[in-house]
Amino acid sequence: MFQKILIANRGEIALRIIRACKELGIATVAVYSEADANSLHVQAADEAVCIGPGPGKDSYLNVPNVIMAAIITGAEAIHPGYGYLSERASFAEACEASGLVFIGPPPSAIEKMGDKAVAREIVRQAKVPVVPGTHGAVRNEQEALRQAQRIGYPVLVKAVAGGGGKGIRLAENPEELSRVLQLAQSEALASFGSPEVYVEKFIPDPRHVEVQVLADAHGNVIHLGERECSIQTARRQKMVEEAPASVVDPALRQKMGEAAVRAAKAVGYVNAGTVEFLLDSKGNFYFIEMNTRIQVEHPVTEQVTGVDIVREQIRIAAGERLHLSQRSVQWRGHSIECRLTAEDPEKDFTPCVGKVKHLVLPGGPGVRVDTHLYPGYEIPPYYDSLLAKIIVWAEDRPSAIARMRRALEETQIDGVKTNLPFLKRIMEHPEYQKGNVSTQFLRRYLRNGTE
Ligand code: ADP
Repeated sequence: MFQKILIANRGEIALRIIRACKELGIATVAVYSEADANSLHVQAADEAVCIGPGPGKDSYLNVPNVIMAAIITGAEAIHPGYGYLSERASFAEACEASGLVFIGPPPSAIEKMGDKAVAREIVRQAKVPVVPGTHGAVRNEQEALRQAQRIGYPVLVKAVAGGGGKGIRLAENPEELSRVLQLAQSEALASFGSPEVYVEKFIPDPRHVEVQVLADAHGNVIHLGERECSIQTARRQKMVEEAPASVVDPALRQKMGEAAVRAAKAVGYVNAGTVEFLLDSKGNFYFIEMNTRIQVEHPVTEQVTGVDIVREQIRIAAGERLHLSQRSVQWRGHSIECRLTAEDPEKDFTPCVGKVKHLVLPGGPGVRVDTHLYPGYEIPPYYDSLLAKIIVWAEDRPSAIARMRRALEETQIDGVKTNLPFLKRIMEHPEYQKGNVSTQFLRRYLRNGTE
């Protein structure tokens, strides 16, 4: 096992990883930007190294500085968290070249899954159902139009290097496709450095259901069941997640789980990963992408399985065998996560900054809060707007909703605008309570917060 790990991230996920390290008796090194000097992850780690100015590109994305920080502190491994360097194959390679262990999958698996068109092809060959679409990126407008005709409208144009809901455009007919194709290409180039796009069928009103997988370096691959992440903003940002998904029965869980394991095996996956599917109203599921890192919403799976996923990531990276078999994975009760963000729901969820003047976090039975907030904390303008993840567990879904409503009621935060009132409205909504959700939920029932 490692003696010392560097955490190449900030905010709640840096704290989450430090906690796992402490419980394993591993020393921790935090890295931070000048804007994060007063951040909780800096205080919580055994050592901390400043790696540059506030903007992410100058600090948390500065590969040489991150690697140097690991070398000078004598860290043996780097945990990248989510976002930032977590899905950059070149960073995983740079770690290896410097004699550091990257706590994540092999660079080749990151690369294959990072190109969404390549990923679709690989998993399709492994008999995982994919959304009908092009085989690989489209080369020109003519090809896009021809393929869309074959697939049937409406279609989505997606960036092959896409992520975070960016670079996705809808086209209802050939005229629209010609128009959005160029837009999508320039958007993809600006956001991801590659103009390549592919076309896939638009699935009306689907649920977003994803499967957590764990794979060790000895060929063992298992799944920890699914999470439902259908409650998303118009910009496809997840807001509420839960496990299990209310419409997934044991037979479907097994089918989706086995498909996710096949997808992981097809790219030689090692470590924790998430295979994302869309589930239509008839119970058909289709692969959309694989995230080759820990995810924001991993705690709901931890709550229902009792598995500490971050601890497993570290053990796997240290070469240990999985501590559990597929048969020993059991699911108990129901868990929900609400993402508390510094965003104004009345202004299309625009990010806000401010100083946290007053803060009361919820507690009591079955409540877990993963956050880097403290009273007096000044929210820097450079990073994502996630403030806290409020996670509950209860014996069944109605009790979990009741518990989440109670937890949100207890939560008090002054000094910055948040989506807290909006989260309460979701939990109170009769259709949410009935489990009647899809990716269109917010648009359909809450007019996406603009009401
Ligand atoms: P990203 O990598 O940017 O997160 P994804 O491919 O995971 O992009 O898709 C993000 C979200 O977009 C999904 O959760 C879903 O809400 C919507 N979406 C993606 N593909 C489709 C599709 N073919 N049909 C309908 N909705 C889709």
